[in-house]
Amino acid sequence: MRLLIAMMKHETNTFSPVVTDLKRFEDWGLFYGEAARRAYEGTGMPFAAYLDLAKAIGAEVVTPVAAEAMPGGPVTRAAYEHLSQAILDAVGDCDAALLDLHGAMVSETTPDGEGTLLERIRRLKPGLPIAVTLDLHCNLTQRMVENCTALIGYKTYPHVDMYAVGRQVGEIVLGTMRGAPAPVMAWGNVPLLSQTLCQGTDDQPMRGLIALARDIEAEGALAATIFGGFALADMPDAGTSAIVVATQAPAAAAWRKRLLDAAWSSREDFI
Ligand SMILES: [Zn+2]
Repeated sequence: MRLLIAMMKHETNTFSPVVTDLKRFEDWGLFYGEAARRAYEGTGMPFAAYLDLAKAIGAEVVTPVAAEAMPGGPVTRAAYEHLSQAILDAVGDCDAALLDLHGAMVSETTPDGEGTLLERIRRLKPGLPIAVTLDLHCNLTQRMVENCTALIGYKTYPHVDMYAVGRQVGEIVLGTMRGAPAPVMAWGNVPLLSQTLCQGTDDQPMRGLIALARDIEAEGALAATIFGGFALADMPDAGTSAIVVATQAPAAAAWRKRLLDAAWSSREDFI
């Protein structure tokens, strides 16, 4: 088995004048091939969790790129295309892709950096099993959900569970390759743009919403996520969203509704 493991992350503030070009990625962390593996192996990142899962099953890994830049303005066309292409060039004969993404990347060419990347991967290789981790500050879109097998977000802010969620979603996707039924996903959003500083998961209302997501996982969902969203990315899907990965569609839809209803009823608490 050959697994593609890659990271391409940026939290884009579309109101910022700071240009996010390739140099900004180089300044924070831009690694290719073996260097990408070495840079993140043994760390607390989803990328590291994916490497450990691959090792545990004796899979071969291809790590075309690991790129992250300091939050700033939209990612330039050149940088976005360069990083996407590095991943697309590696899809080739891989059996699955395990991706460490952010969820609020806006480039000069697309308001949905992650959805566009995933759509391109799937166009190249329809049906490729894809696992995706996203930041709690993700603006979830239909395009992201449609073009992957399972998707999960961090349950902590500050983010200290990145490795754990990488492992959780990676196991779901690798499980389907061993014959587990393909999971279904139900997602949705509410018209609530909260400030990131009101999204700390040790404080209300996020503490309660995260507890609900954990309850839903305890009840049998494979993964349940509530995203605080990122209001500074001015794009149509910006805001609070939820996604549940499950084995049965009706259950996924019911759990999704519980998360979104809870988020909407606590909207005053985000002020
Ligand atoms: Zn974040």
